[in-house]
Amino acid sequence: MKQDTKIVSAGRDPEANLGIVNPPVYHTSTILQPSLGEMRRKGEARARGESVTMYGRIGHPTSLALEDAMAEIEGGYRCFAFPSGLAAIATALTAYVGSGDHVLVTDSVYRPTRSYCDGLLKRMGVETTYYDPLIGGGIADLIQENTKIVYVEAPGSQTFEMQDIPAIAEAAHAAGAIVMMDNTWATPLYFRPFEKGVDVSIHAGTKYIVGHSDAMLGLVTTTETAWNPLRATAQMLGQCVGPDDVYLGLRGLRTLSVRLERHMKNGLEIARWLEERPEVDRVLHPGLPGHPGHDIWKRDFLGASGLFSIVLKEGHDDDALARMIDGYELFGLGASWGGYESLVISQKPEQYRTATPWRGPGPLVRYHIGLEDPDDLREDLSKGFARLGS
Ligand SMILES: *Cc1c(COP(=O)(O)O)cnc(C)c1O
Repeated sequence: MKQDTKIVSAGRDPEANLGIVNPPVYHTSTILQPSLGEMRRKGEARARGESVTMYGRIGHPTSLALEDAMAEIEGGYRCFAFPSGLAAIATALTAYVGSGDHVLVTDSVYRPTRSYCDGLLKRMGVETTYYDPLIGGGIADLIQENTKIVYVEAPGSQTFEMQDIPAIAEAAHAAGAIVMMDNTWATPLYFRPFEKGVDVSIHAGTKYIVGHSDAMLGLVTTTETAWNPLRATAQMLGQCVGPDDVYLGLRGLRTLSVRLERHMKNGLEIARWLEERPEVDRVLHPGLPGHPGHDIWKRDFLGASGLFSIVLKEGHDDDALARMIDGYELFGLGASWGGYESLVISQKPEQYRTATPWRGPGPLVRYHIGLEDPDDLREDLSKGFARLGS
């Protein structure tokens, strides 16, 4: 089946649910078992890594429906749902390391992931080395005997560097390390991680999968070999999601393809327009031919979502930036992205990057292009540039 068919049908079984189209929302903690024998049988199945409904935290039919759907759509072995994208990342990073191990993480990584590596992973005795996102196969030189994970994120969600994931995966696998990817930007529809050498694919489902800015959700899909450590660690840490948030993820998933198409179209249209603005030094959108990672994007990706950044020319101080951003009518100022609405945020990568210094010249402004009419978005942006004064 093609992807668009899978996102409609995966994880659903109306015949098993009175003909109801969507999986029911099961509110549950206790799940009664018919007999002691059956309870033991389920316990054994669980120990083998099978999905069982034994207790709300271990898995309920609503979470299993979303996990089955994601695994099928992304083309992995199995998926586990988490209460947030960050819970998914933290658990995945923990699942494959122990004291004395080493991980390699791209310098363009989502900032809270960096905080986890520098915080709890370090306290566990795991060392992190940040690497240049453009390193490609050169990652081989940084891999140590104790390197267990090479962590990639492409494009980076602030600075939008593209990474040569097949080349990185080849070097990592040759040295016995696994490749873990934050695939939130592209979603399972626009990047197929398991065809490019990724072993563990992570999504902040909060973004495009939920798609309506109304729930937190994380999802991790793995290959068959990588599954057991992930599942066991998630369960040791008591990770689970309530059925209402899982349901919002399932509902969002069904329209992911049509929403993304529009995010991509509107995003590219606005990005091209921004390229022509005199206030803008450069637009960081891998779908633009002028982007340094455009060739990789064309080779490995099937589309672009609606998130990208611009770098302003120098000479705009914080007050000017605040005038521009605070006065927007359609671009809400806030963390997150992937909902139907447009958002803006300003970031300072020069303050947190360690392996590859970030140079402006001006401030970095990140936009999420929503489903509004691009004419109205352009007008809002134009008025913002007028307030900036250049
Ligand atoms: C938002 C985000 C996350 C974290 O997801 P939450 O659900 O907010 O915890 C992880 N990675 C990227 C790239 C993100 O943008």
